[in-house]
Amino acid sequence: MTIYDAIIIGTGQAGPFLAHRLSTAGMKVAIIERKLFGGTCVNTGCIPTKAMVASAYAAHMAQRGAEYGVSTGSVKVDMKQVKARKDAISGQSRMGVESWLKKMEKCTVYAGHARFESPREVSVGAERLMAERIFINVGGRAAVPPMAGIEQVEYLTNSSMMNVDFLPEHLIVVGGSYIGLEFGQMFQRFGSKVTIIEMAERLIQREDEDISSAIKEILEGEGIQVRLNAKCVGFSKRGEEIIARVDCASGAPEVSGTHLLLAVGRRPNTDDLGLDKAGVELDERGYVVVDDQLRTRVPGIWALGDCNGKGAFTHTAFNDAEIVGANLLDNDPRRVSDRIAAYALYIDPPLGRAGLTETEVRKLGRSALIGTRPMTRVGRAIEKGETQGFMKILVDAQTRAILGAAILGTGGDEVIHSILDVMYAKAPYTVVQRAMHIHPTVSELVPTMLGELQPL
Ligand SMILES: Cc1cc2nc3c(=O)[nH]c(=O)nc-3n(C[C@H](O)[C@H](O)[C@H](O)COP(=O)(O)OP(=O)(O)OC[C@H]3O[C@@H](n4cnc5c(N)ncnc54)[C@H](O)[C@@H]3O)c2cc1C
Repeated sequence: MTIYDAIIIGTGQAGPFLAHRLSTAGMKVAIIERKLFGGTCVNTGCIPTKAMVASAYAAHMAQRGAEYGVSTGSVKVDMKQVKARKDAISGQSRMGVESWLKKMEKCTVYAGHARFESPREVSVGAERLMAERIFINVGGRAAVPPMAGIEQVEYLTNSSMMNVDFLPEHLIVVGGSYIGLEFGQMFQRFGSKVTIIEMAERLIQREDEDISSAIKEILEGEGIQVRLNAKCVGFSKRGEEIIARVDCASGAPEVSGTHLLLAVGRRPNTDDLGLDKAGVELDERGYVVVDDQLRTRVPGIWALGDCNGKGAFTHTAFNDAEIVGANLLDNDPRRVSDRIAAYALYIDPPLGRAGLTETEVRKLGRSALIGTRPMTRVGRAIEKGETQGFMKILVDAQTRAILGAAILGTGGDEVIHSILDVMYAKAPYTVVQRAMHIHPTVSELVPTMLGELQPL
């Protein structure tokens, strides 16, 4: 039995930073990884997908070259090179995390699957580790629901997509949310035929209806087939083809393609961790139950990142580590509820989001004002030839606080931060409205939009 001050399970987006904080504070730390250093974001999530989105954007712009007066000849995508570029970017990041941890003073790295043996003990293979503080950062994996015939067909998930170094002729994507849409658009741009099957009545249902329909229009405009109100109920093989059967009121009851990507949600890696031996409580979906400072109900055990169900992003996992570090080491009672929801969808153009949606503001029944502007009325977007999408912002009519915003358009993932930071500063929207922004940018139209607010 080796005794530590702290044990961290998982090297995703919270664990390594927390290991750094705790070991710098003088604690003897053990960190355990069963697979790839850096976890989902680095190996099968954000970093490799955004590298691939960049290749898809290059292909798309090359195809549009003539619109800009640039002749490129016929555009060919070499999927082996796309994958090699992605692997190099992701690999560099993975090695960076691994060498950082291995060089970290007072930190010991274990390779293997960690399991709780008691509230204070963890086993990794034959090793037994003990600590007064244990941090769970085990992340999640693609959910594969029990669908009829799924065992008869080969399917891809976000993880196995990372090995694709060829062009699927016709990629069926089941699931019209963030992951499905990003992969769907990139493969259409690489040259595959793509069909997205979504059981809901619109894509990316958590967003407002106008956002969903603008995104559908963008994807369909590039040739992607979008099937809505189509519940995928089973799969089979017909020769080389994969058949997805759909329960739908209109359209064909079958979609046939050459490859199948399941992007129907994620599940936490909490089922093989021996949590029962530690007495750690899970909710009905398998997420670790934590309080606002990420403590489980067992004193001395915390859960951070995707596995606590309080966020599903790299920045929420990293923020979890900052919250735990601040509470333990800085006497600073930071909380999850201090943060403002913010994320991006990396289709092109991207969607940047902060705070409440319009639907949520309407439900609250607050007296609010709304400003909108299509990208066709943003000079920078016109100059770039990227005028799809629109932006909108909601403010409280009484307090003048910004309640939320969505920027679907070129640079939307960056522009949203000028709004997000003012929300964190709890400043009234008039601060941004009066700010002098740089011309020509997308951001320069945010003050203009705020000058044209209308009652919601
Ligand atoms: C396709 C895709 C694209 C994404 N794009 C974005 C994006 O653009 N922006 C964004 O913010 N987020 C994105 N995400 C989400 C983001 O990747 C996750 O939110 C983030 O990685 C969560 O970090 P984490 O630390 O909670 O867990 P993870 O990164 O999943 O890390 C958990 C680690 O724990 C290890 N582990 C698990 N169980 C054990 C065990 N028992 N013993 C030892 N080790 C264990 C795992 O091997 C893994 O390395 C994307 C996700 C996917 C799937």
